Amino acid sequence: MTDLEQFRRATRAWLLENCPPSQRTTVAKQDVVWPGRNQTFPSEDARLWFERMRDKGWTCPTFPAEYGGGGLDEAQEKVLREEMQDLGCRPPVIDQGISMLGPALLEFGNEAQKAYHIPKIVRGELRWCQGYSEPGAGSDLASLQTKCEPFDDHFLVNGSKIWTSYGVESDWIFCLVRTSNEGAKQAGISFLLIDMESPGVKAESIDLISGESEFAQVFFDNVKVPKENLVGEINQGWAVAKGLLKHERKMMAELGTGFAGGDLSLAKIAEQQFGRDAAGQIDQPEIRLAIADYEMNMRAIALTGQRSHEEAQAGQMDRNVPLIMKYVGTTAVQTRDELAMDIQGYRSAGWHDENFSVSELRTARDLLFNKALTIAGGTNEIQLNIIAKRALGLPDAPAPDKEER
Ligand SMILES: Cc1cc2nc3c(=O)[nH]c(=O)nc-3n(C[C@H](O)[C@H](O)[C@H](O)COP(=O)(O)OP(=O)(O)OC[C@H]3O[C@@H](n4cnc5c(N)ncnc54)[C@H](O)[C@@H]3O)c2cc1C
Repeated sequence: MTDLEQFRRATRAWLLENCPPSQRTTVAKQDVVWPGRNQTFPSEDARLWFERMRDKGWTCPTFPAEYGGGGLDEAQEKVLREEMQDLGCRPPVIDQGISMLGPALLEFGNEAQKAYHIPKIVRGELRWCQGYSEPGAGSDLASLQTKCEPFDDHFLVNGSKIWTSYGVESDWIFCLVRTSNEGAKQAGISFLLIDMESPGVKAESIDLISGESEFAQVFFDNVKVPKENLVGEINQGWAVAKGLLKHERKMMAELGTGFAGGDLSLAKIAEQQFGRDAAGQIDQPEIRLAIADYEMNMRAIALTGQRSHEEAQAGQMDRNVPLIMKYVGTTAVQTRDELAMDIQGYRSAGWHDENFSVSELRTARDLLFNKALTIAGGTNEIQLNIIAKRALGLPDAPAPDKEER
């Protein structure tokens, strides 16, 4: 047996022993575990599952063990993900520190920043949000204006960020700020970590049509930020920002795979809805074909992801792949949502009626929420522009001064 096969066996056994059965079911929105200074748990099982994964470092499986992470390599992490998916295990915790800031800090942070922040991310002690977009800087991110002036031992920050997911609930924000107006727009941007308890920081929620709100506008009014919170060099934040975007795109590309816990496979949903025919096939030829088409596409996406991981490990990372994966991955999630709705018919129109199952309610909410995936982290139009230009070498769009997200 190879080392990896042994690892798979041991991982499965550990998951079976440590993941409570209630944490192997579909996650409703209120079941999600978030980290933070004021962390709460929807149930004792959720707490237990989080604490067991945290203590093993598997909240951040690939982060180095010296900072409390799991220390797994890419192949082992994939095995863990596959086994969790197969058993229907929920993610023990969700946070932008885990998926975005942590990997970026490991790449661009100094030793003190890594030693301070990474263990807190692994242990879920702080909740992070992303302060990139501004009212006048979304796709054209490099136009951002939040002003950051250096003083003796601190920076002074003034301005505002918008569409900050979970800005009200978060403890810290990683921000792009303008430190210079000289030269190209990208050359005057820095990357700063800000404690949202600092005097002068205010997060106001933005109400959405659904009646819920997960966005905030964050205001900075003469906020003093210690100089040690600068990641990378001053005016060199664009490189950090783009490095982090790579992780954001990867995270978004993977959203369709196993995020929800439980068994939400389309085949399972269709089987429940239509049953199987004498040959054991889902008793609806058109739906069967559509599911097969979707599954083949997902298999191709997964294989491309695997190839890309292996190339990255061998130092041959193709930087166009994350861009393409973000586009195809998020588009595939929307295809899945449409298909699930086609299969379930009116059963997927539930919102909070107790006569609908958790997975039926999830279908409706996913369908509406996941429309945002082809906007967040860079819109599909922009991704296609960049793919056309960078990956395919097609002529530039007629907006030479625009640096797209
Ligand atoms: C669910 C969600 C979560 C988000 N979370 C965060 C967050 O936590 N932190 C954060 O900083 N931001 C966040 N955002 C903001 C997101 O990054 C921006 O919405 C996105 O980058 C687009 O910017 P914009 O909304 O200003 O749209 P605009 O840039 O104004 O674009 C409007 C439309 O014009 C199109 N367009 C613009 N320029 C071009 C062009 N050159 N060629 C072709 N089409 C073009 C776009 O594709 C889009 O359809 C989030 C957004 C969503 C939807």
